[in-house]
Amino acid sequence: MAFEGLTERLQNAIGKLRRKGKVSEADVKEVMREIRLALLESDVNFKVVKDFVKTVRTRAVGAEVLESLTPAQQIVKIVNEELVKVMGEEATPLNKSPKIPTVIMMVGLQGAGKTTTAGKLANRLKTEQNARPLMIAADIYRPAAIDQLKTVGQEIDVPVFELGTEVDPVEIVRQGMELAKEKKNDYVLIDTAGRLQIDEKLMDELVQIKELATPDEILLTVDAMTGQNAVEVAQGFNDQLDVTGVVLTKLDGDTRGGAALSIRAVTGKPIKFIGQGEKMTALDVFYPDRMASRILG
Ligand code: GDP
Repeated sequence: MAFEGLTERLQNAIGKLRRKGKVSEADVKEVMREIRLALLESDVNFKVVKDFVKTVRTRAVGAEVLESLTPAQQIVKIVNEELVKVMGEEATPLNKSPKIPTVIMMVGLQGAGKTTTAGKLANRLKTEQNARPLMIAADIYRPAAIDQLKTVGQEIDVPVFELGTEVDPVEIVRQGMELAKEKKNDYVLIDTAGRLQIDEKLMDELVQIKELATPDEILLTVDAMTGQNAVEVAQGFNDQLDVTGVVLTKLDGDTRGGAALSIRAVTGKPIKFIGQGEKMTALDVFYPDRMASRILG
């Protein structure tokens, strides 16, 4: 289960205070040392951990905790509040264009869940807003990607525009956008190519697609299971493309939690959705407060 190790360690660390009546500054220091280790071992970014621990410690040695009759509860409250802050406080809604279509460009490494997430998102827009999305298959390097998007499209009954693997992706996007305008689709989701790692050619192509399609939303899909690497990937894509948001996938898996806790603080970009399964309905809005509660158990 996601966050299992982190939850247990945080609970253990804070639990030690429950047996004490009044706590000293040294007790707080000891708890913070354990929280720090728990976060680092859960693959949370080093700098994020440092700042987090410093803030919590400063608050905890303030009158709030030391004078309190329920120090453990006070620490839980502070940790919870600071976790929510690190993850961005509020849920961040999708950007919407005042004029149709709203264009959503999906980017990410191969295998992160980009194509699946494009389908989940189209499905969500369809069922929630009665929207009429069009999906564009612009990943020509992995032939199976086009078929995969078409299969997803059939499953959720959303049309997919494709021109096979021989046409330049930028041209595919241009024609797809024209079709969307003609058909008055209110959303366009562009499924772009992924690679096993970030490379210059991929980024050049994505920049060109961005310039052509002027997306309202550039959603970076990252795999939560990859921990620190997910954060590095996010930083790389954000440097080149100035993404508008992140989708963190595979949170139904056995992730340690580092990506969820680090991405916002490292990139400054909000996690907008989380993927929690392979089904087309397994996409949820990311609420920092709910995630903090889940982490604290
Ligand atoms: P892409 O290469 O980035 O387009 O990745 P895909 O959309 O093909 O996804 C790669 C694999 O991850 C597929 O088997 C998906 O079913 C799976 N996947 C995507 N999102 C999730 C998720 O949130 N949870 C789980 N368990 N699997 C996911």
